[in-house]
Amino acid sequence: MSHETVYAIASGKGGVGKTTTTVNLGTALADAGARVAIVDADLGMANLAGFVSLSPDSTTLHDVLAGDASIEDATYRLADDIVAVPSGTSLDEYAETSPEGLREAVEDLRSRFDYVLLDVGAGISHETVLPLGLADAVVLVSTPEPAAVHDTKKTVELTDRSGGEVAGLVLTRTRPDGDVSHEDLADRLEVPLLGTIPEDPAARDSVYAGTPLVVYEPDGPAAVAYRRLAADLTGLEVPVPTDDDPETADADADDGTSAVSESDTAADAATDETEEREAAHDDVSSAITEAESDP
Ligand code: ADP
Ligand code: MG
Repeated sequence: MSHETVYAIASGKGGVGKTTTTVNLGTALADAGARVAIVDADLGMANLAGFVSLSPDSTTLHDVLAGDASIEDATYRLADDIVAVPSGTSLDEYAETSPEGLREAVEDLRSRFDYVLLDVGAGISHETVLPLGLADAVVLVSTPEPAAVHDTKKTVELTDRSGGEVAGLVLTRTRPDGDVSHEDLADRLEVPLLGTIPEDPAARDSVYAGTPLVVYEPDGPAAVAYRRLAADLTGLEVPVPTDDDPETADADADDGTSAVSESDTAADAATDETEEREAAHDDVSSAITEAESDP
């Protein structure tokens, strides 16, 4: 399998969880020791910075695309193995950007980071389409409503037209009582189902806290599902944060909706896993530091 390192996180509709997915997938990968850059490629509706309590001093991706700054100047460290490239939020700045420069910026990041995640805007404008072709693979994000999935079809078509590849579909905000099977929804798009992220109030709370969900509530169902997605997508071993309560660590449930297992088997396996990792991973930041010092 080819090694994909630049992912576009895209959707047909806004408000479905792209930024949440970008931030948490990126943080989970960094927690596994990968060097990660997350990029706010949603040039018209930038909001990634708010998810991670970042206040860019003046330089953003807009300045880079307007030819006024280098990508290094717009790169901000979030934690040991993860940086963010925010976009500006003013419409004046937006008008000056040329999305073409995005290609160069992405290639620069690709050479310096193990993974680059592009948080792409919804819709079908030029700056939305461009990242779909620049990325090695496109991760489609949708909520499980058939209408939202239907909108995602356009993103699949646009990816094809721009010469990109679709990795598959991530369904977010899923609920146990959903009436259409998740596999069926992915089948409608003729793409693999990469994972499901359950509805979890911690997702919203984490935004108010300005902290990635996988750090804010690492044992919550959505955080666990994001770590599983990170592992499944890349093949990296993503550490399960240790906690004094092994019951909340998932061991072998087979999809994100059943993340919190109470079965004895799962709890036992989680305990083993907990013991194995205990020394190295007291918390997310020490896990990242640890991984960095032992590449
Ligand atoms: P997009 O980037 O596609 O516009 P966001 O990531 O900003 O979407 O998410 C839209 C809203 O949905 C935010 O308020 C976010 O907190 C919330 N949200 C995202 N994922 C979940 C989830 N799994 N459970 C509950 N709320 C979620
Ligand atoms: Mg967004």
